[in-house]
Amino acid sequence: MVPQQESFVGSIDQGTTSSRFLIFNKSGEPVASHQIEFKQIYPQPGWHEHDPNEIVQSVEKCIDEAVAQFENQGHSAKSIKAVGITNQRETTVVWDSTTGEPLHNAIVWTDTRSQTLVRKIKQRLGADELQKICGVPLSTYPSVSKLLWLMENVQAVKQCYDKGNLAFGTIDAWLVYKLNGGPKRNIFVSDPSNASRTMFMDLKTLNYSDSLLDFFRLDTSKLKLPKIVQSSDPKAYGTLASTVLSGIAITGCLGDQSAALVGQKGFAPGLAKNTYGTGCFLLMNVGEKPVVSTHGLLTTVAYDFHNMKPNYALEGSIAVAGSSIKFLQNNLEFIESSAQVSQLAETVEDNGGVTFVTAFSGLFAPYWIDDARGTIFGITAYTKKGHIARATLEATCFQTKAILESMGKDSGYDLKELAVDGGMCNSDLTMQTQSDLIGIPVVRPAMRETTALGAAIAAGLAVGVWNSLDDFKDVNSEGKTTFKPKISAEERDGKFAKWEKAVQMCKGWAS
Ligand code: ADP
Repeated sequence: MVPQQESFVGSIDQGTTSSRFLIFNKSGEPVASHQIEFKQIYPQPGWHEHDPNEIVQSVEKCIDEAVAQFENQGHSAKSIKAVGITNQRETTVVWDSTTGEPLHNAIVWTDTRSQTLVRKIKQRLGADELQKICGVPLSTYPSVSKLLWLMENVQAVKQCYDKGNLAFGTIDAWLVYKLNGGPKRNIFVSDPSNASRTMFMDLKTLNYSDSLLDFFRLDTSKLKLPKIVQSSDPKAYGTLASTVLSGIAITGCLGDQSAALVGQKGFAPGLAKNTYGTGCFLLMNVGEKPVVSTHGLLTTVAYDFHNMKPNYALEGSIAVAGSSIKFLQNNLEFIESSAQVSQLAETVEDNGGVTFVTAFSGLFAPYWIDDARGTIFGITAYTKKGHIARATLEATCFQTKAILESMGKDSGYDLKELAVDGGMCNSDLTMQTQSDLIGIPVVRPAMRETTALGAAIAAGLAVGVWNSLDDFKDVNSEGKTTFKPKISAEERDGKFAKWEKAVQMCKGWAS
């Protein structure tokens, strides 16, 4: 029989393609979990939506299933002391604050429908100054562009705004609101790591900035924004209203990439992690003061924990990473599962001269080319599927290298090794390629659910399951795999120069 005094923490991981619920013990090991994939809606090229209600239902079902598993192991649901949330960032939900019902599908972070609108707003006086306040340049990526598109193009959203009832939230705010029971309790909050992706928050004050809201001509007497509270807070996020965990407090909240940095224990300035999920996100802790990038990176809040100073991160975002593998699987039908991509790539020695710029929705960091589109260079009569598979894996690795070069210049830190996680890091070939291209070791932990662990850490710190960051020293330290660089600096530079040339050549296709 398991001792009743043992404490556990639950973690909701609401990602781009699936929702998960994991239960962690005090050693940071997952003891039960459940995952559900949900519908991806692509109404037009470049558009990407999720059904906000399906997201909530998938999370509730994951909680019920994982807790059932946990109880089958002899544990009591009462030993789960708190629940944390981590979520896909930027994805935008709008709802009627009087009913709690969504007014449109959520517009997903990858969606580029606001391209024309963004170009128009970029002409406004002061557009170049925004990044200094909020850390993010104006593009189709942050929530603001998605919200403004909804307000301009969806009648129900416009009407709700005019009536003063329009609620806007990123997925964390939507989940907290709905999991608390919606308008009845009206718990409407977000944490700084999520709010820093909207373009409404001042990085220094961790509060909404009037000058940003004025720039976007938003009237906050009509638009309801979630209150920004700390990423770890014993009370602000309320309690679960439904599911088998009804009554358990939500006490932690982090955007997925911040959560992964926390889950990889990136607690000191100069530490970095790269998460290879649907997209790929490299975050480096830069300490207690934000560093605004001049080399194409974003500045974001890493975490803002109870009784600690907030920590900031520099971030390089790649829009297409694991989704390029899905493209090989679903669109080109080269493979039947993502895991087969390495095998296919290993049928050839090298990329055979092929470079694939996987700019399906433009290129993000550090290039920010919104009118680039996916382009394959170097095809000859010799090219085989294996070469294209290799070039696909390499595209993410090249963009990671470009980001690391910018990060070195912006932060002044020389990265010693890169901690990795996310679905695509399961490919040994990709991780070896990555190490070859960046010339430093790539380190993959044994337990790869680092994003979920990060949210559990935020939640557990708020209720005393853990008391300080020192408590995590031994968490997930055993069984790491290290990939060391195997090519010369000269070879690395040559490959990268070819990639950079390809990037320049795919500009302008969608304009
Ligand atoms: P997210 O949280 O963004 O939904 P995950 O971290 O779950 O993403 O990673 C999913 C992505 O990882 C998918 O796009 C998938 O194609 C890719 N992936 C999963 N396993 C492998 C593998 N063995 N090799 C290469 N890519 C993989």
